[in-house]
Amino acid sequence: MQDFDFIIVGAGSAGCVLANRLTESGAHQVLLIEAGGSDRRFWIRTPIGYGMTFLDETVNWKFEADRDPGLGGRDVYVPRGKVIGGSSSINAMVYARGAKTDFEDWRDAGNPGWGWNDVKRAFEAIETRVTKDGTTRGHGPLTVSDRQYDYHPLKRHFMNAAHEAGLRLANGEPSENFAGNGEEGFGPYVINTRKGLRCSSADAFLHPIKHRKNLTILTEAQVAKILFEGKRASGVSYRKDGMVHAVRARREVILSAGAIQSPQLLQLSGIGPGALLQENNIPVLHANEGVGAHLEDHVGINYYYRAKEPTLNAVLGTWAGRIAAGVQFILTRTGPLSLSVNQYGGIVRSSETLDRPDMQLYFNPLSYSTENSGKRKLTKPDPWPGFILSFNPCRPTSHGHVRITSPDSFKQPGILFNYLSTNHDLEEAVRGARLIGKVQNTAAMQALLAAPPQFDPSRESEESIIADFRKRSGSVYHPTCTCRMAPEAQGGVLDPHLRVHGVDGLRVVDASSFPNITSANTSAPTMMLAWRAAEFILNG
Ligand SMILES: Cc1cc2nc3c(=O)[nH]c(=O)nc-3n(C[C@H](O)[C@H](O)[C@H](O)COP(=O)(O)OP(=O)(O)OC[C@H]3O[C@@H](n4cnc5c(N)ncnc54)[C@H](O)[C@@H]3O)c2cc1C
Repeated sequence: MQDFDFIIVGAGSAGCVLANRLTESGAHQVLLIEAGGSDRRFWIRTPIGYGMTFLDETVNWKFEADRDPGLGGRDVYVPRGKVIGGSSSINAMVYARGAKTDFEDWRDAGNPGWGWNDVKRAFEAIETRVTKDGTTRGHGPLTVSDRQYDYHPLKRHFMNAAHEAGLRLANGEPSENFAGNGEEGFGPYVINTRKGLRCSSADAFLHPIKHRKNLTILTEAQVAKILFEGKRASGVSYRKDGMVHAVRARREVILSAGAIQSPQLLQLSGIGPGALLQENNIPVLHANEGVGAHLEDHVGINYYYRAKEPTLNAVLGTWAGRIAAGVQFILTRTGPLSLSVNQYGGIVRSSETLDRPDMQLYFNPLSYSTENSGKRKLTKPDPWPGFILSFNPCRPTSHGHVRITSPDSFKQPGILFNYLSTNHDLEEAVRGARLIGKVQNTAAMQALLAAPPQFDPSRESEESIIADFRKRSGSVYHPTCTCRMAPEAQGGVLDPHLRVHGVDGLRVVDASSFPNITSANTSAPTMMLAWRAAEFILNG
């Protein structure tokens, strides 16, 4: 059996960072095992290809969650990257560290070393920020670009409406705001692109170092189980080309398989809720009810509008527009194909009386109202000038779970989000909708509208807003917290150095390790977390 010092399971946002850091000194032999294949694909490299990979099973696990009672029993689609780079290869590239207070909460949940000042240093270490005039700041491997000059002309209406609605605007450079001080602010999103192409975690951390002699990368190899000697993780078994293999870890096995599959692998390997493991004929190595519990996600809703002036629909929805944008992209790596669909937004407070941001906004210059919201076809915008205002509450309190339903590691685990199951979350849904209503009714927005909106959240009753939210909202694709870093007595799975409670030689380093979901998008904090984890691992 081959052996390595470290085995990293999953080459996603977190796994690529770890592979980079743990091989840097040359002192450790590292194996990175990924179930998916190469990310050298046109629609991954091209930012707008997000709309193509969203439903592409060759790079996407395409999980289905259980019907959600909070969403009126609707199915919930759970896209996850199955490819080098993981979800960072198929995501919408919005870069946001989150709010300062998110990390103060991480620390206060029993995790010294994770407060804002600790994580800020790690964020700074991973980022190189490209400002709107092309100057760079920082020397990190990950490029965070301010592309506002290329954003759709609708932006002036978005900024005016946000200002008129009393939202705090992003001060100075947006890269300072979203990547900087952990405060609220509305403005142009900064994104993970480099010279007009996606800059995934793999582009930033893995590809530049993949030829290191002490790094072995295995693709299209799906880990089935963690192997143990007593209570020490000693390796993993995996399937590749229809054959089962095993590899040994001299020091550690590190799960970076993401918020759905890291808890699944723990449960399949005997670490999880005792009764659940017994139901599935899995010998219990360490019973812990927290494994797979506490699933948190952002749930959001789009409001659709018809505009008096052309929107991105005219570009992405017509052959003439697509050809022109394609030529621009090929010749100059600029234009709509080099951008995220999410152009304006931020984390804001729905009321001045709150002491922290509670809503994330997305104002996008295109619309796809005719498509089913759960599995929207981003490649088919509406055939009229349309745009979207959208929000999701930042810190929902509803918790779901991930639970195996079979000992077969190739069967997707059961996923239940349990959205909107607390009064707090229902109140936030109403507050967020009222905020959109306020923006919708500004003079700046009214001047842009070609037709009155079908739904005015500033006038509807709370019951009607909640009914609409249950009917139309959906995942923002940020599942987290299923192997929480917290003391075991408080339902935690990991200690502050991300070691799994109750066993040795095993860590979980990915979005499942978050003690609580962050207020904005989750890829940046996942990469930061992996950077910090490498510090803990290397410093013993
Ligand atoms: C459609 C979509 C849009 C998003 N948009 C944004 C955005 O704009 N901004 C943002 O910040 N975040 C966004 N996110 C969320 C963000 O991308 C994720 O939170 C983040 O990438 C999670 O990182 P991770 O390392 O935990 O997991 P992942 O990046 O998903 O990596 C897990 C890896 O493990 C592999 N794996 C799983 N099981 C096994 C196994 N048994 N054996 C071997 N390999 C395995 C997977 O194939 C995958 O490559 C989006 C996500 C999606 C899906």
